Parts: sequence; C-alpha cells; structure tokens
Amino acid sequence: METYLQGIGVSPGIALAAALRFSHDAYDVPQYTITDLAAEQRRLNEAIEATRSDLNSIYNHTVEGLGKTHAEIFRAHIMILDDVALREDIAHQLEIEQHNVEFILHNLAKRYVQAMSQIDDPRFRERTADMLDVVDRLLRHLLAAERPNLRHLERTSVIIARDLTPSDTASMDITKAIGLAVEAGSVTSHSAILARALEIPAVVGIPNVFETVPAGATVIVDGTAGQIIINPEAATIARYEKARQTLALRQRKLLQTSAKGPALTSDGVEVELCANIELPFEIEHSLRVNAHGIGLYRTEYLFINRDTLPNEEEQYEAYAHVVRSLAPLPVTLRTIDIGGDKFIAHLQMLKEDNPQLGWRAVRFCLARPDIFKTQLRAMLRASIHGNLRIMFPMISGIEELRQVKTIVNEVRHELDQKNIEYNPTIQIGSMIEVPSAVALADLLAEECDFFSLGTNDLIQYLLAVDRVNEKIAHLYQPTHPAVLRMIHTAAEAARAAGISCSICGEMAGDPLYTELLLGLGISSLSMAPVSIPLVRSGISRISFKDAQAFAVQVLQMHTATEIKELITQRYQLREEAGENGSDACVNPILE
Ligand code: PEP
Ligand code: MG
Repeated sequence: METYLQGIGVSPGIALAAALRFSHDAYDVPQYTITDLAAEQRRLNEAIEATRSDLNSIYNHTVEGLGKTHAEIFRAHIMILDDVALREDIAHQLEIEQHNVEFILHNLAKRYVQAMSQIDDPRFRERTADMLDVVDRLLRHLLAAERPNLRHLERTSVIIARDLTPSDTASMDITKAIGLAVEAGSVTSHSAILARALEIPAVVGIPNVFETVPAGATVIVDGTAGQIIINPEAATIARYEKARQTLALRQRKLLQTSAKGPALTSDGVEVELCANIELPFEIEHSLRVNAHGIGLYRTEYLFINRDTLPNEEEQYEAYAHVVRSLAPLPVTLRTIDIGGDKFIAHLQMLKEDNPQLGWRAVRFCLARPDIFKTQLRAMLRASIHGNLRIMFPMISGIEELRQVKTIVNEVRHELDQKNIEYNPTIQIGSMIEVPSAVALADLLAEECDFFSLGTNDLIQYLLAVDRVNEKIAHLYQPTHPAVLRMIHTAAEAARAAGISCSICGEMAGDPLYTELLLGLGISSLSMAPVSIPLVRSGISRISFKDAQAFAVQVLQMHTATEIKELITQRYQLREEAGENGSDACVNPILE
C-alpha cells in the first residue's frame, strides 16, 4: 500500500527511485565467540600497526601544513594507542570473555566514556574525545570499514537518512543520488542549501522517515510539495512522472527567458542578482543563469571531506579560478565559516552543547590565525585576477571587525615585503547575521565597504530558533516583524553610510519576498543559481515605487502570519497577471 509522509520541501523537483538507507552508525560491531586467542591478539596488533601508520602520516601532513604545535595532537593519539593499560585491559577481557576483539574494544570504550563522564573537568572531555577517535580508527581497521559515506553508489537511489551532514551531502555521488528524504533539518540547514545547489529534490523534517522506509522500497520525493510517497501505485507513478516532465519544461522555459543584462523592475530600477556557490561546478551554473556575480562563496567547503587542510597554493588556485571565470563581475569570497553544523574532522573540533552559539566562523579564525592568514594570503593573491571582495561571517561588533581587518593588514604587509601582488583597493565587507551587528549597523558601516545580510543566521539568532532543528521549524519565520525591522535598520545604515547592502540568506532566493526586500532598501540579492531565473522574472513584474509603499505598510503590521498572507496574495496576483503564469513555484501535481 502506498504511504504519504509529509515534511518540509527544501529543494524543488520530483525524483523516483529505490530507497537507500544511510546512517552514521552504519558500522555494526559484531559479537561472536572465539576459539583462537592468539589469532585474535594478532588481529589486534595488526590493527594497532595500521592505525599507527595512519596517525604518523596525518602527523607529517599536519606538520607540513600547520607546523609542529598543531600536529602534537596526533602524537598524543599515538601515545593513547601505545597505552600499556589499554592493551592489558583488552588482553584481560579477551581471555575472560572469549569474544572477538572489536566487540571487546567497543565495550571497553563505552566503559571508559562512562567512567570519564563522572569526572567534572573539561580536560577529561577532551581526553575522552581523543580516546574515542583512536578507538574509532582501530575499529575501522578491525572491521575493514571506511567512514560511512555516499561517495560511491551502485544504483540510482533516493537517500533516506535520520540526518545528513553538509560533508555527506557535498561528497555524494550525484549521478546516482537523485532525491533526499531526511528526518532532521530545515530550509536553511546547510544540507538543504547544498541540495538546492546540487539541484536534487529534497524533503527534510519527515518524522521517523528512517524507521518507516524499508531498504529498496520505491520512493517518490516531491521536493516542491514537501512530501514523499513510499511504494506508490502505478497510477501515482504515472501522475508524478507527468508532473516531473511539466516541471522540467517550465524550468527550461524560465532559463531561456533568463536574459543577460540587468534585472529591472517594471519602473526601471536595477536589481543585482548574484549567485551563492559552495562547490566548483556551481560556477558553470551561475554563468548559465547570467548571474551578475558571486555574492557568497562559502569557502569552507574547500576544507571539508578531507584529511588535511588545503594549503595556500591549493586555495589560491581555487579562488583564482572563480575570479577569472567571472571577471569582470564581482566575486565575494567569505572566509571560512566552520562550526555550527559544519565540522572539519581533522581539526579535532569537539562536539559542543550549543554549536550554533559556539566556536564558529570568525571566532574560530581569530583563534587560529595560522589557518586564517593562509586563507587571506590566498585570497589577496587571487585578487589580481578580477573583481574579488572579501567578507567575514558572524561579525558581532566593532572589535571583531577591527581584529579581522588588522589581520588582513598584517597579511598585506607580509605580501608587500615579499613583493607579491594583490589588489590594494580590495573591498572588505561584513556579514550582518548576528542581531548585535544590526544594532551597531551604523558604526559597522563606517568601517567596512559593504554589508551582506545573512538572514539564515539572523533569523536563527534573533528569534532563538535553531535553524537545523525540525521540531521548531514552524517558529523560523522570515516574515516575523522583528526580522523585517532588522533588515530595514541594516539597509538604512548602509544607505546612510553610502555602502551597498545585499542579502545572501535563503530569503533572497524566494520570489515571495522579493517585493518586500526591495521596498525595505535591499538592492542586491544573492541566491542558489537555480533560483535566479524565477526571481529575475518576478522582478520584472514589481514596481519599485509600489514596493517602497508596501514596505512602509508592512512595517506597521504586527504578526508574521498576517504579513506572510499578504505577501503571498500580492505575489500570486502579480504572477497571475504576468505572462509566464506562476511557473515553477506551483506544483503541477496540484493543478
Ligand atoms: C546566512 O546565514 O544567511 C548565510 C548566508 O550564511 P550561512 O547560511 O552559510 O550561515
Ligand atoms: Mg550565516
């Protein structure tokens, strides 16, 4: 029997394939009785030697890339590996239990964690994490298992998961993974953002999806309606197949009408439409839709899914490539924003209780000037190839902005001394995504060249709604009056200081909000390349004068729901009156 499950549609389109269940706890540790104790001890010794060799090579890479101090952690891991007490414990348990060594090791680790969690000292938490990391490596050698990933898939699949990290999504084999159905997440979680970038239909926030969908079951993902259908009947499949073709045709039509040149409102006001990119192939997508530049390059994606940091040369090549490909159009490189829901395994970032409020973005970079300076050097060097701007994520006040600018100046000075060229008039911008930055927008605007509003985080921090938590996704309201006031305040401060103010959060790519954002004083929008044609076509039906009057009206309103209803009504009226109808935003299945 076919079953419908509802979630949140985060990447439009329709996909149909067999379900592939993906989980991070995919490696099951087997339990069996052994008869040859010596053979089991040998297996353990081999795993220890293989782990030692891994750790030595990571140590050497890290020394090369970051220097000895940062590599020390891997020496510490080798010491854990050589810990006599650990080996004696394993040998002892082997003898008593007569079970396979991975089972013994797994249980011992659990017991250590339990014991260490009783000790009220943060250093023990770090040691526990280190110990678990070593045990994890040992277990993988014993089980000959890799970290679970979606890199190589055997057949076309819909991925079913409890959670997908941004690194899972970024490394996915997109020739085979054609749809996503996930329990965790919301519209602005980074996996959802990536699904849109990859143009893979995706639904998140589906309760118990992992428990409900059996492996291999046929699944339809309707990313437009936010629904999945398990074991669809023949008639349902036929209906969705037709809808898929209709959507593809509409998208092609929109693309054809996505002209080169400026995007103009009906009364001739120009709006800049830039692309957000994460992965290199998106440069091509941005050019295909005639983006006016790259408004946000999330450079942290160069750092994830690998065992070592990218060195200066590798980063320089990557940045120079984007800048050259887009020249003379502007390319805004954001310095790494790791932490939050994006972690880099080899940097030993510990799991935090409140990662969104934790060691993230510039906070991380200011604590690791070595990594930060390497990135800035690569960016500055790449600036000679076109129109490159640098922007900093999660600036929360003047001191932070000054600190990062001081480091930029130090790097410039170092380059000057070595006679290495860069653009001396390079623009430096601040993301406005922490409420305190809005409160200080007038002051920040005096000390930087441009603002880019990160509404994804701004909404999260302003409304105290974790952007990746599906349970409170309904409280994540872009039309909340407080959010709109913040956008207006930041835009006004930028206007008064004579600097530009764009939006690069997901609100920018939803045509529902375009009129209101223009009216609030935003003249540049940056979004997933796939959204540009639709937003561009919507802009041609908006009168800027009306948008300004409309924003004044909306700023007087009291609730998110009323505002959402009103903007939806106006959008529908405009689209119905327009030539293309409401195109790809309407789900053909509902027609
Ligand atoms: C934002 O917060 O709106 C933003 C664009 O940055 P990210 O989604 O990468 O946090
Ligand atoms: Mg952000």
